Amino acid sequence: MREQITILGVPIDNITLEESGEITKRLILESHKTCKMIFAPNTEFVMKANKDKEFFDILQQSDLSTPDSVGIMLGAKMQKKKFKQRIPGQAYFREVLRVAEKEGFTVYLLGGMPGIPEKTKENVLKSFPNLKIVGTHDGYIEGEKEREVIEEINQLQPNIVFVAMGAPKQEKWIYHHRKELKVDVATGQGGTFDYEAGRIKRAPKAIQKMGMEWLWRLAREPKRIVRMSVLPVYVVKLIFKKDKTKGKFEPIKAE
Ligand code: UDP
Repeated sequence: MREQITILGVPIDNITLEESGEITKRLILESHKTCKMIFAPNTEFVMKANKDKEFFDILQQSDLSTPDSVGIMLGAKMQKKKFKQRIPGQAYFREVLRVAEKEGFTVYLLGGMPGIPEKTKENVLKSFPNLKIVGTHDGYIEGEKEREVIEEINQLQPNIVFVAMGAPKQEKWIYHHRKELKVDVATGQGGTFDYEAGRIKRAPKAIQKMGMEWLWRLAREPKRIVRMSVLPVYVVKLIFKKDKTKGKFEPIKAE
């Protein structure tokens, strides 16, 4: 039985980082190539999902959803609940790689700009030298390319495919292709490859621990202000919407 906390209609599992690795392992062992879906909702996800019914419905169907941001912690707190732990996307990525190396699971990296998943592979192999990364491809695969990539993945039949195309693109991609993908789990990975490849620098550890990484990213990428403008609306929604309903879509009116 999954213990979940629902934030503005989006159910999120209340688990630790270690448990996220164990659950992923269990899903892989049980899957038999049925493409279990793992997502990592953050504040932007929740806001996008409340405007986009398809995205909202897809998030209801995850096999695991990890709590990815400070805003998600706040959403629980405002219901007088508490997540055991915040699980940043990169921490989950590394935990699963650790489990994969130990268990001999195979991995495919899909997403980011050309060169980024290859550089990610090179860098993570320094930490996990026995990890089996069986394939990589960038995330710009519209048209013919998409078919080729799916065929390549299906030939390799990896246990895990990490899809890093940003939300909601990656979740929709996983959802729409899950029946044809011969993989055990597919998980949305956002901008993680950009960090792993060293394209974007992460905040110093102290800033990460304070939960202020969003401010660090904003200072380095001022364009993010547009994306972050949803945050005040999020807080207002948290205050006024009692979050008792799982899976009930109530579109947020255009501001
Ligand atoms: N991306 C991609 N294909 C696309 C659009 C985006 O692979 O069609 C990649 C992009 O190169 C970047 C990531 O998706 O690496 C999105 O990163 P973002 O920081 O937006 O994700 P977040 O972690 O904020 O969800």
